Amino acid sequence: MADLPLHDQGDFADADRGFIAKLSPAVVRTADGRVVWDGDSYDFLQEDCPETAHPGLWRQSRLCARQGLYEVTSGVYQVRGLDLSNMTLVEGDRGVVVIDPLISTECAAAALKLYRAHRGDRPVTGVIYTHTHVDHFGGVRGVTDGGVPILAPAGFLEHAASERVYAGHAMTRRAVYLYGRALPRSPEGQIGCGLGMTASTGTVSLIPPTLDLTRTGQEETVDGIRMIFHLTPGAQAPAEMNLLLPDHRALCLAENATHNQHNLLSLRGAAVRDARAWARYLTEAVSLFADRADVAFASHHWPTWGGEAIVRFLEQQRDMYAYLHDQTLRLINKGLTGPEIAEAMTMPPQLEQAWHTHGYHGSVSHNVRAVYQRYLGWFDGNPAHLWEHPPRESAIRYVECLGGAAGVVEFARRYIGENDLRFAAQLLNHAVFADEGNKEARDLLAEVYTRLGHGAENATWRNFYLMGALELGDGIVPATMDVTSPDLLAALSVEQIFDSIAIRVDGPRAWHERLAIDWHLTDLGERHRTTLSNGVLVQQRDPRAAAADLTLRLTKEQLVGLLAGKGVEGVEREGNTAALQRLVAVLDRPVPDFAIVTA
Ligand SMILES: [Zn+2]
Repeated sequence: MADLPLHDQGDFADADRGFIAKLSPAVVRTADGRVVWDGDSYDFLQEDCPETAHPGLWRQSRLCARQGLYEVTSGVYQVRGLDLSNMTLVEGDRGVVVIDPLISTECAAAALKLYRAHRGDRPVTGVIYTHTHVDHFGGVRGVTDGGVPILAPAGFLEHAASERVYAGHAMTRRAVYLYGRALPRSPEGQIGCGLGMTASTGTVSLIPPTLDLTRTGQEETVDGIRMIFHLTPGAQAPAEMNLLLPDHRALCLAENATHNQHNLLSLRGAAVRDARAWARYLTEAVSLFADRADVAFASHHWPTWGGEAIVRFLEQQRDMYAYLHDQTLRLINKGLTGPEIAEAMTMPPQLEQAWHTHGYHGSVSHNVRAVYQRYLGWFDGNPAHLWEHPPRESAIRYVECLGGAAGVVEFARRYIGENDLRFAAQLLNHAVFADEGNKEARDLLAEVYTRLGHGAENATWRNFYLMGALELGDGIVPATMDVTSPDLLAALSVEQIFDSIAIRVDGPRAWHERLAIDWHLTDLGERHRTTLSNGVLVQQRDPRAAAADLTLRLTKEQLVGLLAGKGVEGVEREGNTAALQRLVAVLDRPVPDFAIVTA
């Protein structure tokens, strides 16, 4: 691989630096014995890179699979490789402050236990959530029951909860593909996701922050540890922050600079991120902190030591996002469309020579389309694309025009022979969408996806291709993930709760319903009205006069209970109770395991 900087082995030294101890065996279970994390399942990565993996990705996965307790600098420790993310521990006067307590309480507890085994039984005296993604807060109850300061960037709670309100079920389904959840962990199967190995599958919790950070430069002290915050909203996450530990000369970069090119748009689906803001925050981080830090660490991957190396790392990360942003817009303004820009975009060779700019999690190809999407959206301006048939209807017609399914498969074999796997996948996808019973087309498409996956530098592309191949062979993998977490439900605002009901209204079924329900939240002292008309559930705070069909007096906890399918017992009702039943009758259910690679 001429394009890989194979001479540069520095990351291996950094990934091993400060190593104290492993968790052995690296298996974490729930109280009833279910495995939620198995680091040992990746031991095969010690072998040389096989034909079935991209050498760059294999190398990245080897680095990510390292696990254990590490000293970052005196008084600052990290547990890495016991979940998708890192847990950082900063020792204070009385105990230890935890930065980003992983996804699952079980993993967080195991990480804390490993730390304590080597650093003493220090109490957790504070928690920092760097941002709103679940791999940075979900394990919190594994390290504390609360009663300690919990610091987070302003807007944290709203955004942490909201990601699950709107498109959460679809994201959860697509995350099965993103992480390759159903794939065997093997040289032919799942070998990580670039940002780490995979997401743990234990208990997700959330304790609301006790202090919101609202401005860059804000300084706080927790357990004697001084911290200076740098807010970075709207880039990698809607609410996020870096922080400097000035007395340790250590800089926490949250997830704003990691050892890969990150996503401007996750393939599981998300609101598109702002590369321009991201680049600017990295410039700010350099000017604010670079001369005050001897080590920079993040909540994924390994730290970077030395002032010069930190600046180089941050500037290269910055240039990468700025280049993607600016060059995509340059080409947009010359009339190129998303797929054309993805094909045309080449990163500067100086950046390509740094491992951490490579697309193990995000990719140049899908990130430039994200920039296109942010500025121009789904339509490329070509009227032929305004009113296309949906995929299955298109597929039936393409197959007919190509002389039937057998002909399509024949053509596909020709393109496979020419190693044009991309077009073979397009052709075979038509054949499968036109007739999902076409076993020959399915098998051949699975073979093509497998080869595309094995060749992919990007771990999430690999996982998507291999999951596609798996489901073409075995059918849809049933959803086993429980997406509800009592803590996350409780964190929803009343407005978010009504939003989550509104998006379940089956429009056509509700076309002719008209009803109004008043909700008096007794514990919050809030009054809300929901009105169903024209197939829409509209919510309104502090409604004026006009009587509702039904008034319910309840606590927020009871409202959450109603949402989770509990009854109305204990809820004070006034008016026509049937109104609530009529509302419930028009609510639809999400499909947790919808088809992706078949129609
Ligand atoms: Zn993360």
